Amino acid sequence: MCKHVLNAQVSIRSPCCRKWFDCADCHHETESHPLLQQDHMTFACKKCKKCFRKVAAEFEESDEYCPHCDNHFVIEAMVPKPRLEVEGEDVRVDARMLKDERVRGEEQRTIFNVRDAPDRLG
Ligand SMILES: [Zn+2]
Ligand SMILES: [Zn+2]
Ligand SMILES: [Zn+2]
Repeated sequence: MCKHVLNAQVSIRSPCCRKWFDCADCHHETESHPLLQQDHMTFACKKCKKCFRKVAAEFEESDEYCPHCDNHFVIEAMVPKPRLEVEGEDVRVDARMLKDERVRGEEQRTIFNVRDAPDRLG
């Protein structure tokens, strides 16, 4: 389980470095290169520990479930609540900037962009 998506149901294998990550943020923190986006993605179900592949362009409702155990893995990402400790400790931190960062992060986190992929690929 990773600290970004508390309820991650699958691991995803990055096409670039072929390692397993719980979410794109984990990849970002561990690796120095950007996560490669591919039209197909390899997942590993955390429930039955089996792997399966999905093609982003053909992703539909039935693909939101693990083909082996029917585990529903495309779910709203549960993210840790931001800690409120900006008590004037660091006055250089711009509160507005922090907020913007957070909003953007949550948008990206929606199950590894799989849902947006068909639109983007046209
Ligand atoms: Zn990588
Ligand atoms: Zn993560
Ligand atoms: Zn499964």
